[in-house]
Amino acid sequence: METVKREASCSCGQLSITAEGDPVKVSVCHCRACQRRTGSAFGVAVFFDRKKVAVSGASNSYIRSGDSGRSIEFRFCPDCGSTVYWMPEFRENLLAVALGCFEEPSCLVPTQCVYEESRMRWVAFELPSGD
Ligand SMILES: [Zn+2]
Ligand SMILES: [Zn+2]
Repeated sequence: METVKREASCSCGQLSITAEGDPVKVSVCHCRACQRRTGSAFGVAVFFDRKKVAVSGASNSYIRSGDSGRSIEFRFCPDCGSTVYWMPEFRENLLAVALGCFEEPSCLVPTQCVYEESRMRWVAFELPSGD
């Protein structure tokens, strides 16, 4: 059986990743930092085993410290500015890819929501049941 491969890329296509196999988890984050990073109401991180992700293209990095005091390194395209993936220091084996960068984002369904305290009141999800 062939392993599923998913492609994700920035707005201009210069920076891209290929992830092999299914994600470890898909996490919706309502924190203020994700709201700022995305310019939207929340961020969605698709976590993969770091060893299963191949990156191609140039990226710049932005490091910020999370609530835990440990840092997260974000990688974004120097040409178009899209943040494509990031690496949390506290999850050394995981790499997160921005949901919206995937070729087929609708196939990826959130498995958890975090930072509910800063969730915008009008944001509500209708997640498919079962599965
Ligand atoms: Zn780009
Ligand atoms: Zn967040």
